[in-house]
Formats: sequence, C-alpha cells, structure tokens
Amino acid sequence: MPTDGVLFHAHAHRQVDPSPPSGVTLRHDWAQDEVRAIHDSPLLELVHRAHSLHRLGFPDGRVQLCSLLSVKSGGCSEDCSYCPQSARFDTGVQPERLLPVPQVLEEAKKARALGATRFCMGAAWREVKDGPQFEAVLEMVRGVRALGLEACCTLGMLSAEQARRLKEAGLTAYNHNLDTSPDFYGEIIRTHAYRERLETIAHARDAGIAVCAGGIIGMGESVLDRCRMLLALANQPAHPESVPINALVPIPGTPLEGRPKVEPLELVRMIATARILMPMSVVRLSAGRLALSEEAQLLCLLAGANSIFFGERLLTTGNPSYQADMALLEKAGLRPLEPEGLR
Ligand code: SF4
Repeated sequence: MPTDGVLFHAHAHRQVDPSPPSGVTLRHDWAQDEVRAIHDSPLLELVHRAHSLHRLGFPDGRVQLCSLLSVKSGGCSEDCSYCPQSARFDTGVQPERLLPVPQVLEEAKKARALGATRFCMGAAWREVKDGPQFEAVLEMVRGVRALGLEACCTLGMLSAEQARRLKEAGLTAYNHNLDTSPDFYGEIIRTHAYRERLETIAHARDAGIAVCAGGIIGMGESVLDRCRMLLALANQPAHPESVPINALVPIPGTPLEGRPKVEPLELVRMIATARILMPMSVVRLSAGRLALSEEAQLLCLLAGANSIFFGERLLTTGNPSYQADMALLEKAGLRPLEPEGLR
C-alpha cells in the first residue's frame, strides 16, 4: 500500500518514544481544539515555534535522504482515489511483477552511492500474502541491510506474524499511512477500513519495527480533517518514528485528477503542526515537491521537515532531480544525514 508518491522517513529502531532533550515534551493526549489552534496560529509564529522545537530535537539540522523504489507496480485491487496504481483507474500504469531480488539490490547500491541512508521498497498490494513473493521481499530486506542501509517497506496490510518475520529479516521501518482523518477517509478509500490501517501500524510497532505513518493533503478534506489526521498520529501509544506529509499530485485517470493544487503555505502549516505535535519524529516532506519552489521547500525545512525523498520517481510519480536536490541543499548550507548519524 504505497500511497503512491507518498511516503516516509528516518531515525530507526524506535518503538517507544525516545527520551526527549530538555525543553521538549512528548504528549499523546492532544485535544482537537489545541491542534486546530496550533495549525491556525499566525504563520510566522507557527514556524518559529516549530523551528525552535526542531532545533532542540535535532540540533545538527541534518536532512535525511531516502530513496524509494517501486518493487511491484500497478494492478492493485484497492480503490485509493489518489493512486495511479489502482487497477480500477485508467492511469496508464501497467501492472508489473515483483522485481527480481538482484535488480532491487543493484538499485539499493546505486542509492547508497548517491548518499541515501534509507532504502524504501513499495509494492502495490492490498496486503502481504504469505508465499514466494513475501519470501522474496524478506530476501530484499536482508540484502539491503547487508549493504549497510536502513530498510523500509510499504506492502499494504500486514499480520502480526508477517511483521515478526520482517523484523527478523532486519526491517528497520514499515510505512503505512493514515492518509487523512477518520471522518474523511471513506470519501477516499472504500476497499479497506481506517481501523485496518491502525491494526497494521500496531502490528509493526509491536514487532519492534519503527513506524512510518503520515498522510496527504489536497484531496478535498477540510482543515479540521487535516488536524484530525495529525491528532490520530500524535495520540498513538508512541509517535511514529517518521511522519511523511504529502501534497496530492493529481494523476489523470484517478477520481482526484481535477483537484486544485495545494497552496505551499498550507503544506508549511501541516509540517509545522506535525513538528510541534511530534517533536522527535522525522517529518518527511514527501510527494508534491515538484510543484514547490525552492523557497517553499526551504520554508518547509525551516518549519520542521528533516527528510526528503530523492530520485526522479516516487514510485510512479515525478520528483525533483537528484542534481536539483543537491543544488538546493548546497545553496542552503544543509547537510545530508550520514549513515553514522542514524540513531
Ligand atoms: S493500496 Fe493499492 S491503490 Fe491503495 S495506495 Fe496502495 S497501491 Fe495504491
């Protein structure tokens, strides 16, 4: 269940909240009104508050570069309205078989050579099914770890036993997004329930795998829905280790193809609010970067984002070029996270 072009995160091995530094409090009892008040506060105050917390939690200010590969594209049975990989929509994405393990590991090596510290593998599945394909994914995970990279997967729904096996293979993190608020969810996805998403997240967390969970804005949801999604993430028993915040990339052929572009400052507000609610999580500026100016991306980083996906494709949607990202980081004097910097 790669929320296509949507994704994930960074500091691994965190199933319980980390001990926060002085000045940072981790809370799991946020109230909706509080979240709304934070989200709606004057923009520069919001960014200042988020940035101050960010500096306390991540004093080195590094940005994690994550690489994402679609290991099995298209032909998905589900109806996620934003996703070009659903077999229900005519988006031109051709269903493909699971990539062979050696090919995936070659891609992981290339990503490592370009500076990635985490390699994420996405499969367009409703859920993981036991059998040869799952065994191949386990082999991919072992291979990626052997290269010295963190390994992350997004494979759809997961049982407790499958989570245990992924952990045993060395999986660092599992991505499963909430996508939106519990109330708006039914407008976007009908083939699986919000409750099932929460169960998969719990299975990964209980197996000792770091959780990467976030969502998408720009699908027609209200500001309250956005706040409720962040509330659902922040009030989990442990904050997700990483929180991808995506702006919808409307794909022709999907039910959301006509959605207007997300205003960059709306994304900044979401990122800042996520940073304030979950101060020690890695907040990932994910899909939708192609539509952002350099200045808007930097404002997102100032507001608390500390990870980006790099590579020209995010599963099956576009992303800035590697050269453009490197030039941006260089111009801003931002340094990528080194492998030894991973917690
Ligand atoms: S479950 Fe399928 S349709 Fe939904 S986001 Fe994942 S790949 Fe796309």
